[in-house]
Amino acid sequence: SGGAKLIDGKAIAAEIRTEIKHDVESMKRIVPGLATVLVGERTDSSTYVRMKIKACKECSMNSIHRSLPDTASEEEVLQAVEELNRDESVHGILVQLPLPSHINEERILSSVSIEKDVDGFHVVNIGKLAMKGRTPLFVPCTPRGCVELLKRSGVQIAGKEVVVIGRSNIVGLPVSMLLIHENATVTIAHSRTADLPGVVRRADIVIAAVGRSEMVKGDWVKPGCIIIDVGINSKPDSSKKSGYRLVGDVDFEECRKIASMITPVPGGVGPMTIAMLLRNCVDAAMRKEREVNE
Ligand code: NDP
Repeated sequence: SGGAKLIDGKAIAAEIRTEIKHDVESMKRIVPGLATVLVGERTDSSTYVRMKIKACKECSMNSIHRSLPDTASEEEVLQAVEELNRDESVHGILVQLPLPSHINEERILSSVSIEKDVDGFHVVNIGKLAMKGRTPLFVPCTPRGCVELLKRSGVQIAGKEVVVIGRSNIVGLPVSMLLIHENATVTIAHSRTADLPGVVRRADIVIAAVGRSEMVKGDWVKPGCIIIDVGINSKPDSSKKSGYRLVGDVDFEECRKIASMITPVPGGVGPMTIAMLLRNCVDAAMRKEREVNE
């Protein structure tokens, strides 16, 4: 039917998991281990943690899980992280966000050893990502997944006009910094941007990380542009048993007619986030193994 080529995140993530499994099996002394910390029982968070543990198994990695009740104190969460910091079988620590509101998120994230900060949210890692000529130990997973999707789809990033919609610490800001390092010309748009459609229309590459169902319309995007849709939003849909379906921040049906490449939701950026988490963790374990050998 013509229209944009789909960027198949599910297939690309599977390819990356195969590479990871291969790396894990080639390691002689160390089995990479990922620790997950879940505070409380939010169903979405529990699902994400379960998916991460399952992905570890598939890649022949170890996983360790710590569950705390949502009544846990900040000190108790800190203590769990400290134990995992000391545990030599753990190469990556993932604290599932969001944390209950009585816990100071920055304090917890900063307590994760920067050598084990596989989420890349430690202020030192983000700080290095923001600076020229510094190399962070870890790059946040969803942003790294976006860039990896572009590269593995053969998209040249250098010199391109990129518009990132969203400036969160988790997605918008770090993906913008990564793309600057890839030599793109980056515009960061947000809720106070004037004439957002006009700004988005300039983009050769659009990264949408807003959290608003199907906000980016077909007449917002430049013909032939490439669209990476990070959004995961549920939209009421009476034809589904659950009563809803997942949609992105981009109006897929409209934009696929205008763009040259686009990620679907689900099956685009989503699967990449977990693949990149495992990649970060195995990279950490491989660094450890090299240290041991030296
Ligand atoms: P946040 O809510 O933290 O940030 C949203 C950003 O969008 C903010 O910078 C906000 O601007 C901006 N924004 C909100 N409304 C508008 C608007 N009307 N016009 C322009 N900009 C707007 O969200 P996250 O970054 O955490 O997540 C974004 C989306 O990505 C969500 O749908 C989330 O579910 C999804 N997500 C997907 C992941 C994956 O694995 N695929 C991983 C993480 C997130 P301002 O700063 O001015 O408030």
